[in-house]
Amino acid sequence: MRINELCTEAHSIARSKGFWSEPRTILGLLMLINTEVSEAAEGVRKKGVTENLSEEMADTCIRIFDLCEALSIDLEAEIKMKMLYNKQRPLRHGKHYEELRIEPKGETDE
Ligand SMILES: [Mg+2]
Repeated sequence: MRINELCTEAHSIARSKGFWSEPRTILGLLMLINTEVSEAAEGVRKKGVTENLSEEMADTCIRIFDLCEALSIDLEAEIKMKMLYNKQRPLRHGKHYEELRIEPKGETDE
């Protein structure tokens, strides 16, 4: 199954389960995508890498697919275009990321 077919299927299932019986907001749906990522992070934090991580990643994709279909976004074309663009970018996309770490307050070795 191709990506856009997965989008169509995800949206169809969501509609059949009543999730589109009322108008929805894009921001609300984006937050639900974020919620699935948060569930994945929380699972890793508490239990490490388990099958829960795979499930939450699948949930994240399903929510993205559903929203893309609702917005008529050609996700497959967008991904291919963005990956081609990224492939041509310089190492680390030419950026110099600062490592921002916060040291705990309290005693130091000094
Ligand atoms: Mg979930």
